[in-house]
Amino acid sequence: MANENKLQNIIAHCKEYGFVFQSSEIYDGLSAVYDYGQNGAELKKNIREYWWKSMTQMHENIVGIDAAIFMHPTVWKASGHVDNFSDPMIDNKDSQKRYRVDHLIEGYVETLNDDAKGKALIAEMDALLANNDLAGLKKLIEDNKICCGISNTCNWTDVRQFNLMFSTQLGSVAEEASEIYLRPETAQGIFVNFLNVQKTGRMKIPFGIAQTGKAFRNEIVARGFIFRMREFEQMEMQFFVRPGTQAEWYNYWKETRMKWHLALGIAPEKYRFHDHVKLAHYADMACDIEYDFPMGFKEVEGVHSRTDFDLKQHQQYSGKKLTYFDTEINQHYVPYVIETSIGLDRAVMMVLSEAYEEQDLSTEEKTDSRVVLKLPAMLAPIKLAVLPLTKKDGLPEIARDLINECKPYFRCFYEEKDTIGKRYRRMDALGTPYCITIDHQTKEDGTVTIRDRDTMQQERIALVDVRAMIMEKTKMF
Ligand code: ATP
Repeated sequence: MANENKLQNIIAHCKEYGFVFQSSEIYDGLSAVYDYGQNGAELKKNIREYWWKSMTQMHENIVGIDAAIFMHPTVWKASGHVDNFSDPMIDNKDSQKRYRVDHLIEGYVETLNDDAKGKALIAEMDALLANNDLAGLKKLIEDNKICCGISNTCNWTDVRQFNLMFSTQLGSVAEEASEIYLRPETAQGIFVNFLNVQKTGRMKIPFGIAQTGKAFRNEIVARGFIFRMREFEQMEMQFFVRPGTQAEWYNYWKETRMKWHLALGIAPEKYRFHDHVKLAHYADMACDIEYDFPMGFKEVEGVHSRTDFDLKQHQQYSGKKLTYFDTEINQHYVPYVIETSIGLDRAVMMVLSEAYEEQDLSTEEKTDSRVVLKLPAMLAPIKLAVLPLTKKDGLPEIARDLINECKPYFRCFYEEKDTIGKRYRRMDALGTPYCITIDHQTKEDGTVTIRDRDTMQQERIALVDVRAMIMEKTKMF
């Protein structure tokens, strides 16, 4: 399947089976904003829970918080977002279309059949970006005759910086209202609570604070389905360490985060690390974990060594001391920070891209096919479908009893309509790992058929063993 097709098929599948809908679809949608349907919301919740438990439950020295989306406006001044959180952009005067300069140049490089030229162009672009040389970037675009894909002209405006933060007014009376921002990352909620958590939790360095929550960015060009959205969710963890030990912890977290990804059953060759050459203003080491999405290798997570930049800035802007007393070395210091930051929506997209499979099951006798979502069982929206073979003879009652026994422990689904084959296919498309069929033999000997989504194999097991078996097969740890 061509990759562009694969992406389109995944998008269609997500809509058809209640995973992801375009926001406000009945009003023709809102660009780069999406809603999760009944199955997508479960899948997303399960990924969030897997991340949360991996961080907090599985690490004694990491705790989780839930900070507000709104923060004091000075937070964003201190963090550098007011001054630096922008992307250079350029408009085509004929089509009025706006481009992120790096995307425009990268897009052009992809069309070149000349690797060396492409690499040289990207290197030149990186150098100009690093120097904030906006006029130089425009010249680079013009010199290479990079045109707008819509108007096909090179009639460009100057390159301008475009801040990605959304702002709004706090307060009811216009004159008294002050401008505040919707947070563009969750990390700052952790930094400003560093001492609250450290003191109340009696935390000893090294320790971490984790958080999941919404973030907002006015992305200039938002595309790629839920890959790049204007409202999205992040799962971030800030790990506070003794200054001088950051390289060791940075490597530790690179490795630990990769293990988390691989534990999803995704093959190592579908991932790669991309080390940053141009570092953000706060970082001394940084890399992306890239996954091979249908549109190629792209960032799903960042691991950043953020130095003591954020805490020092907040110390300076707030006038409050944000130091830690390290009893082992008898010293006060501002801790260094290693950050792991993964987009929950990108993780959903990664898991869906990995799981989506179109299978040809044709035999000599008949043509047949199915779409199956091979989701890791622990992440599946529905863990168990219970299907009575017929609607009579007491089979639905046995099925209901089984569901009542299991539903406090994991999510079940009951269905009695359609042939058993059609019901299996529907569960395959939703990614349900196990189906139990209740048939007449169940009444005789207390056994049921369990069907495995991936192998489509069926076997008979005792009805009384179902709950424990599914709990074992779908557990996170
Ligand atoms: P990109 O280069 O793709 O814009 P970024 O480097 O700006 O991403 P970070 O600021 O490091 O991203 O954010 C951490 C994570 O948050 C990213 O790895 C990504 O998974 C997620 N993320 C960032 N921006 C978006 C977005 N617009 N939509 C969905 N997820 C996002």
